[in-house]
Amino acid sequence: MDALRDYQLRAVAGIQHAIRRGAMSVLLQLPTGGGKTASVVRGVIVPSIAQGRTFGFLAHLEELLDDTAGRIRGYGARCATVRAGVVSDPAAPVWVASTQTLAAMLARGEDLPHCDRLVIDEAHRSSSRTLRAIIAHYKARGTLILGLSATPSRGDDQPLDEFDTMVCGPSVRSLINGGFLVEPIVHAPAKVLTRGVAEDPAEVVNLRCAGRRVVVFAPTAADALTIASRIPGAETVLDSTPYAVRSTVRDRLATGETQHLVTVRALLEGFDAPVLDAVVLCGAFTTVGPYLQAIGRGLRPYTDPATGRRKTDCQIYDLRGAVHLHGLPDDARRWSLEGAQGQSMAERPSPLRRCEDCHAITKPATVCPVCGSVRLVTLKPLRIQRAAMFAASNVPVAVRVEQWISGAVRGITAKRPDISATWARAAVLKRPPAWVREYLESPESQSIVHVKGNDHAAA
Ligand SMILES: [Zn+2]
Repeated sequence: MDALRDYQLRAVAGIQHAIRRGAMSVLLQLPTGGGKTASVVRGVIVPSIAQGRTFGFLAHLEELLDDTAGRIRGYGARCATVRAGVVSDPAAPVWVASTQTLAAMLARGEDLPHCDRLVIDEAHRSSSRTLRAIIAHYKARGTLILGLSATPSRGDDQPLDEFDTMVCGPSVRSLINGGFLVEPIVHAPAKVLTRGVAEDPAEVVNLRCAGRRVVVFAPTAADALTIASRIPGAETVLDSTPYAVRSTVRDRLATGETQHLVTVRALLEGFDAPVLDAVVLCGAFTTVGPYLQAIGRGLRPYTDPATGRRKTDCQIYDLRGAVHLHGLPDDARRWSLEGAQGQSMAERPSPLRRCEDCHAITKPATVCPVCGSVRLVTLKPLRIQRAAMFAASNVPVAVRVEQWISGAVRGITAKRPDISATWARAAVLKRPPAWVREYLESPESQSIVHVKGNDHAAA
């Protein structure tokens, strides 16, 4: 067994420091592929159980239970699983349970299994009502909570206030430089698309990803099935796919029986298939967490056991231009427990460039690092605020659209008092920004316009 890496040791030291200073709940952030479970099991759990402490480990999916318990045992700790309220080995100092199992126990009014410290994997889900109830149960019993997440972002910019403090690991870039992750190469349209995709995802896989093993993230299950039907050697994994079937997918990927995966969100977290070396994003990915999680599926290093060939990069086909919302996957990011999580650290990011020949999106350069072309075009600066706005679910889009329209109308009428508000509004609506237009053309908005029309007719 390899020793813990330097940055993993630093993360463990950070957790211990926070606990010594009195934190009762600590969130550890490490990028996907950084080895969160290994760091915590070997750096925190194993040494602590030697001192007589007991641990619970909460996996967010039932299907990850055996896998997680197996890994914990692999590091030398006796580990039980909790299923249907029953702890398989009550004397074991560690147990693994799924969120669903503990939530069901709470709903039945049962006491949850005891532990001195509770580890919560994928802890950015801690805002869900079920997980909050579980955390509250253990906090009330004085249990120390340790959350793990690659992307501590809830997606709605609300604070992750279940945690007292956060320990952040190294950036994606430093893990790439250290050889712990491979280089992501992003291909994207020149701007965010508000509808549709820049290219047919099936053709991207069939033509542009020849020789690669691809995971496609489709917007819906129906889209996933359609796309998969047009890709030879592809298999779908959907929310409706039984656990037993899902757990065999990794094996079939490893043997090469399954060449490509088409999924929606089922595989976003907790599924490691380092063999994958291309990721196709078909959905809008308006929040940063799922964007980084999806790309992270393809960044783990891999060496083909048959040929000895090492994976050196991962091709990312971002078909709706989410890179313009969230920046490149290896941008330094500022994570916080207080909302506005995961923003690219550059306050005014240098404009990205796009290769006219291969559509790679790169940092400023004179030659395309992917194909060597010199036909690089500078793109408009990132619209980070827009991403944050889309993500802020506490203000409905309808309200934001109305705020934008009335603001623009006031802007006109303040300068030109001779122009009526009605005329200014009509002028504003002739060329609204893309996000306003997208909303106004949506069925949701049409119904509102209809109601207003009726009011007018009645008046
Ligand atoms: Zn190029």
